[in-house]
Amino acid sequence: MALLDQLKIAYSEHLVKKYVKRARESPEEIDAIFKDLKKYSNNESFSNLIDWITENPGPRELFKRIFERDEKQVYMFFENLIVHSGLEWLLKNSKIDSEKEFPAPFNLLISPTMRCNLQCEGCYAISYDRSTDMSKEFFDSILTQGEEMGIHFYTLLGGEPSLKIKEFADVFEKHNKSIFQMFTNATVMNRDDETLETLLELGNIIPVLSVDGRKEHTDKMRGPGVYEEVISVAEKLKERKSLYGISLVLTREDFEVLSDLSFYDEWIDRGALFGWIFLYMPISRGSHPELMPTGEQRKEMYYVIHEVRKNKPFFLMDFWNDAPAVNGCIAARRYAHVTNEGYLEPCIFVHQAVDNLHEKSLKEAWNSDFFNAIRLHQPHTDNLLQPCMIIGNPKVLRKIDEVYKPKSTDGYSVNRVFKLKDFFDNYSKNVAQVLDPFFKEKYSDVYKKWEEKGTAHTEGFDRIWLEHLPEDKQKEIKKKYKLSD
Ligand code: SF4
Repeated sequence: MALLDQLKIAYSEHLVKKYVKRARESPEEIDAIFKDLKKYSNNESFSNLIDWITENPGPRELFKRIFERDEKQVYMFFENLIVHSGLEWLLKNSKIDSEKEFPAPFNLLISPTMRCNLQCEGCYAISYDRSTDMSKEFFDSILTQGEEMGIHFYTLLGGEPSLKIKEFADVFEKHNKSIFQMFTNATVMNRDDETLETLLELGNIIPVLSVDGRKEHTDKMRGPGVYEEVISVAEKLKERKSLYGISLVLTREDFEVLSDLSFYDEWIDRGALFGWIFLYMPISRGSHPELMPTGEQRKEMYYVIHEVRKNKPFFLMDFWNDAPAVNGCIAARRYAHVTNEGYLEPCIFVHQAVDNLHEKSLKEAWNSDFFNAIRLHQPHTDNLLQPCMIIGNPKVLRKIDEVYKPKSTDGYSVNRVFKLKDFFDNYSKNVAQVLDPFFKEKYSDVYKKWEEKGTAHTEGFDRIWLEHLPEDKQKEIKKKYKLSD
């Protein structure tokens, strides 16, 4: 990295430390602190984020609570997220020539193991082969390559990733400029104090506890007694002042609970700071397509997440309803998933790959024609509330599969999606009837902006960018990536 960029990073580390210290010592000065911070960045998104935090009661209170948490975690969280995942990523990726190479993913998902002590109903990962764990050396090598590309934000999944915490502890320590969010069923941490202690001592892993609503739904989906174990871990994390979040799967059945604002109040009282909502994806053995939420329910959740985020100290995110904030589907664009066997998949729910990181570098696999073809289809529709190539625009997934013939990494789920072709086509059509007019009402200015900019994504290399190129250039790129007219 150039000397000037290194100096920028060092100075930003110093600033973050200084302001976190001030916020912890003088929480009443939080508004002044955020206003001061604005002076140091000319990045529009960062500036808008600060305005949003200071102007709304929910995020203001949330940040006060974050600053009160465990000292080591709080410093690592802000430094790694703002300086390394943010600034360092930008410095390393903003000058890339997007016709030759694509900017690195902002977040890399890694499943070090597919082993799990539970067998949850509808688990998207249940069809993977569970016999091979990632070695420590391989895990380390992915992180080293990722950091060279500017990636400092990793998501750990599986399988149950906490099974590898003790074994990989020195690797997490080595990569202490990166932040890891770990999706976990919580039971391993509940039964083994050493795992929980190791995680808390490391400071750069933030647990995200999976629940499916309250006791009734969680135990139905995950097994009897699991809810009590999750609550037990939540209490331990609260007592230790740990940063932590929850992960929720929205189904037609638990919609009543997840759309009830008091559900989030309960988790705020338990010390949770953020939550992820994922739609039920019926891609695994034994899953039930009829459990998928309706278009009306998805629309209702849009209001719930915005209300919670604005007025409660809890940052609730919805993988699909928040797609407009990231210009639609982020598969192969802002994130990708490395399986326990080393395959690089474009999305956690698209279990297909053309490359394995045991054979190719992360950078080479990230710049494959398969990944480029997916990006050149994005956004898959003009309705960013229907962003997905599995459940919103299933024709895209079928077309890419037909052209690139990627390997099925779990030998099951993509075939199931194709077998359920009629179901997914109907589902997307029914949801579109509700969400197409809703998107137009809420985001009328978005498409106009794309047209003016000539690209939907800041990095170019998408279908709007392609349509704006001269005809001969368009033909050349379409031929290269086997895209039909
Ligand atoms: S394919 Fe669907 S689930 Fe995957 S990133 Fe795109 S929108 Fe999200």
